[in-house]
Amino acid sequence: MVRIDIDKARFPHICPVCGGSAKRRSRIMVAPREGPVRTYKGARLSGPGTRSMLVYVCDEHYQPDDERERGKCLCAATTGILISLLLVEVIFASGDLSLGRPVSIGLPLVIVLLGVSMILAILIFRPSELEMYVKIIGFDLGITCVWLRLRNPEYRDVFMEENLMHAELVNWIRRGI
Ligand SMILES: [Zn+2]
Repeated sequence: MVRIDIDKARFPHICPVCGGSAKRRSRIMVAPREGPVRTYKGARLSGPGTRSMLVYVCDEHYQPDDERERGKCLCAATTGILISLLLVEVIFASGDLSLGRPVSIGLPLVIVLLGVSMILAILIFRPSELEMYVKIIGFDLGITCVWLRLRNPEYRDVFMEENLMHAELVNWIRRGI
């Protein structure tokens, strides 16, 4: 684990996921109140108190964050619409049942669609590969300093070299010696 001042952090020009040469930059948003980290392409979605870090990633692991965000909005909207449709269908179906009529195809159809959209939501809302490799554990001193877990040991070593002056390896096994 690494403790670093957000403003002073310099990310190496290698990809945190695969270690390949990295030219594109992906933004990692640090939102203290919302807890989990989110990546956005631009700062326009950031609220008060959010900070961001630019991490270099290779072409392969670069994700256009705009697309991801659009996918999330679309997914949430679709699920919302389907849930209201489901309510309407349930009302109709209970009316049909009380009149002794067979239930229309609408209800099972909406249930299936809702299931599909839930699966898509799970896929789209899970953390990206970059978020798994550069994981923000917490903050201190307001959010001046951030605690990072860098999963790739080679990347961590290069990161430490680049940030000799202001990064601190918070690993008591290493430091205790
Ligand atoms: Zn990569």
